[in-house]
Amino acid sequence: MSTSCPVVILGAGLAGLSAARHLPPGGATVIEREAEVGGLARSHVEDGFTFDCTGHLLHLRDPAVQGLVERLLPEAFARHERRALIFSKGVLTAYPFQANLHGLPVDVVKECLSGFVESQLRRERDGEPDVDRLSFRDWAILTFGEGIARHFMIPYNSKLWRTDLEEIECGWVSWSIPRPTLREVLDGAFGRTVRGMGYNPTFLYPKRGGIRALPEALARGLEEVRLGRDVVSVDAVARTVRLSDGSTLAWEALVSTIPLDRLLAITTGLPADLPGAATRLRAVRVLNISLGVDRASIAPAHWIYFPEPEYSFYRVGFPTSLGDSLAPRGCASLYVERSLLRDEPFDEAEVVDRAVDDLRRAGLLWRGDRVVYRKVTVLDPAYVIYDRFRARQLPAIHRALRDAGIHSVGRFGAWEYSSMESAIKAGMEVASSLRDAAGGGTTRRREAR
Ligand SMILES: Cc1cc2nc3c(=O)[nH]c(=O)nc-3n(C[C@H](O)[C@H](O)[C@H](O)COP(=O)(O)OP(=O)(O)OC[C@H]3O[C@@H](n4cnc5c(N)ncnc54)[C@H](O)[C@@H]3O)c2cc1C
Repeated sequence: MSTSCPVVILGAGLAGLSAARHLPPGGATVIEREAEVGGLARSHVEDGFTFDCTGHLLHLRDPAVQGLVERLLPEAFARHERRALIFSKGVLTAYPFQANLHGLPVDVVKECLSGFVESQLRRERDGEPDVDRLSFRDWAILTFGEGIARHFMIPYNSKLWRTDLEEIECGWVSWSIPRPTLREVLDGAFGRTVRGMGYNPTFLYPKRGGIRALPEALARGLEEVRLGRDVVSVDAVARTVRLSDGSTLAWEALVSTIPLDRLLAITTGLPADLPGAATRLRAVRVLNISLGVDRASIAPAHWIYFPEPEYSFYRVGFPTSLGDSLAPRGCASLYVERSLLRDEPFDEAEVVDRAVDDLRRAGLLWRGDRVVYRKVTVLDPAYVIYDRFRARQLPAIHRALRDAGIHSVGRFGAWEYSSMESAIKAGMEVASSLRDAAGGGTTRRREAR
């Protein structure tokens, strides 16, 4: 059976839901593979524990998104001051590493400080490095010096990206990696903790329950959200999508928030070279290991980074640091993040056992602690790899899709490293451009009701 709808939206994550919400009522049909809305911003509740798909903390800077969240969920969020640590050389230091060297072995501090000073002098002499031309590895060395690069930037990012850092460009670093001044680095090296640096010095989190409150609020009142349907093919010429239940939907505009590589692989009628690009867009997936432990408090932090290769994970977070309601009384919860290439095999039981062993070695779990809950969730993709192919080809891919009436947006639609706020904003923007294209100055949109 084929039905027709002016706008079809693929994916009911934050980007897809936000797009639907900002279109006129009844103007869009949302198709979602999972049985519930939310995408990466879902939460699961089991055995008294509430877990998100790894830590999902809300940072709001954009006034329009901020206003929307306040209208949808008034008084629902608490503001937290970030408590992030780094575990390295057997000690915990404050985040960011580069601004809080105090507490590390003296030789390490010396190497990091002298490298930082040399990098400052070099920059004064030669000017700022050209971010557009450098690999991440070279950028890290030129920006922070050999020591900070060797002891944190390179090992941590190698673990996260699982790719030679010479192959990675720097398009994502400007907002995500804090750059302290020399004075701040010195303060931090001599024990004055440098706080408030980076994009997330404070963040919002629901006062009760998990982050799923956000997508659920966005979805409220949407008339056409079809859950449990996989989009199996897109015809860019006939302007149709075929779903796993055998039905076909016709569209005038298609908003896709599913991963771009998948979209390219299932779409016919695009310029001949585009489906081939699908196999060359690279990403890592993240194994998120949710653990419940029969001890009320594990660490004085919201999360801890682990740059060293002897630990299998790159980050461990503590949902119960955000609120007691996220675990049964007397218990604490952890999420453990481990990155893998998409074709790297893994054994679920081995991954959990290794994580628990590593947590014990790091002193986070104690002898006698009982792990009372465990679950592995695979986020695939999780982080797109900013390699040169992406930098070269992405603009042309998006142009060709737009020419065919397909708007590929959101974290994986745009194929970018971005936040929940960006996903909501992307939905607003694509809805606005579709309204404009339809002469929508006069079109009533749902949010205006
Ligand atoms: C490890 C990790 C930690 C993060 N932490 C934070 C954080 O602390 N703060 C923050 O702001 N952001 C964080 N993010 C980013 C945030 O999760 C995303 O930016 C945001 O949720 C993306 O929303 P989206 O709608 O673009 O994509 P998604 O949430 O991926 O939504 C896409 C939807 O499409 C559906 N779909 C896929 N394929 C098909 C198909 N074939 N047919 C039908 N449906 C399909 C999916 O099921 C999904 O529901 C994190 C991301 C990761 C990976």
